[in-house]
Amino acid sequence: MHDDLRYDWTHDQIREIYETPFMDLIHRAATIHRRYHDPSEVQVCKLISIKTGACPEDCKYCSQSARYKTEIDVTPLMPVDEVVETARRAKENGVTRVCLGAAWRQVKDNHQFDRVLDMVRQVTDLGVEVCCTLGMLTEDQAQRLEQAGLHAYNHNVDTSNEYYDKIITTRTYQDRLRTLANVRKTRVTICSGGIIGLGETEDDRISMLKTLSSFNPHPESVPINVLAKVPGTPLADAPDVSVFDTVRMIATTRIVMPRSVVRLSAGRAKMSPSDQALCFLAGANSIFSSEAKIMLTKAVPSQSYDEDKALLQQLDLKIRKPFKTDPASCHEPVPLSSETVSSKWPGVG
Ligand code: SAM
Ligand code: SF4
Repeated sequence: MHDDLRYDWTHDQIREIYETPFMDLIHRAATIHRRYHDPSEVQVCKLISIKTGACPEDCKYCSQSARYKTEIDVTPLMPVDEVVETARRAKENGVTRVCLGAAWRQVKDNHQFDRVLDMVRQVTDLGVEVCCTLGMLTEDQAQRLEQAGLHAYNHNVDTSNEYYDKIITTRTYQDRLRTLANVRKTRVTICSGGIIGLGETEDDRISMLKTLSSFNPHPESVPINVLAKVPGTPLADAPDVSVFDTVRMIATTRIVMPRSVVRLSAGRAKMSPSDQALCFLAGANSIFSSEAKIMLTKAVPSQSYDEDKALLQQLDLKIRKPFKTDPASCHEPVPLSSETVSSKWPGVG
């Protein structure tokens, strides 16, 4: 069953997969997808931006960086009740995973973090998976999130190590890996992926997949975002990514990390239903949906709950239940010791 599970994919091997003739690539990815997952299921997630904008970081794609003039509504940390109410409505609409995102560089040990911990507890009590994306975390903060019942922590590597400083200069790739290692020392599962369309080369995409697939265990969740071009950011006029490149990226991700949930994330709003069907065939098994057609900020749109219900119905797909413990596709996260992290995540420990 687990013959395809490897943590030592080389750059050349991943490149060979990425360059496979398109139809053969989809066939291989779909075959692996069926071996590890129920292909009739898609998980529906909802991102709630609990603190929006005014971020000190300079991520060149981001509508929330204070350095760029973008059309977003800057808002302070939301009250707990409002977050729980939004999550409750999301659940009513089929959402089984709620992601709480804050435009922070890092978590600080203050009353705001206490409020986020409260949100984690109360949204978890609704019976959905809760994921947080709050920026950099210390080991102690990861443990406090674990104690609050957090299911997943999102921290995208975004692109390759080599291209990272063309996109972000206010933190390093190593900083990113260090936070992921801190999460891996707890039972909180890891959500980490990236963005295509940042002006990166195919080798950068492959290098990013090599980084992610070298983690043992693999991230339980891998979002593949297509850049949502935000007016006012340095990447506002980046060249379009073809849907075939997106499908290639999803298929390659599915093949090198067969057990992970592959999330078709930002950029889906621009895709036709048939483009999305191709992504599901190639191994994507999660989408983000929203009542107000906003995925992150109004500059990063998504489909509405109703549009997505219609899409899934048309494709005869069902909504994946939360906390699914399908033995082939999921595993109980086992916290790694500091020594194991140091030996398996070179230069991070
Ligand atoms: N501040 C936190 C951080 O950077 O980790 C969380 C904020 S943000 C929700 C997390 C992710 O959203 C980013 O790592 C990036 O991959 C994705 N994202 C943000 N803006 C995007 C855009 N314009 N297009 C595509 N993906 C985007
Ligand atoms: Fe800030 Fe996160 Fe946006 Fe970067 S991606 S500017 S860290 S909110």
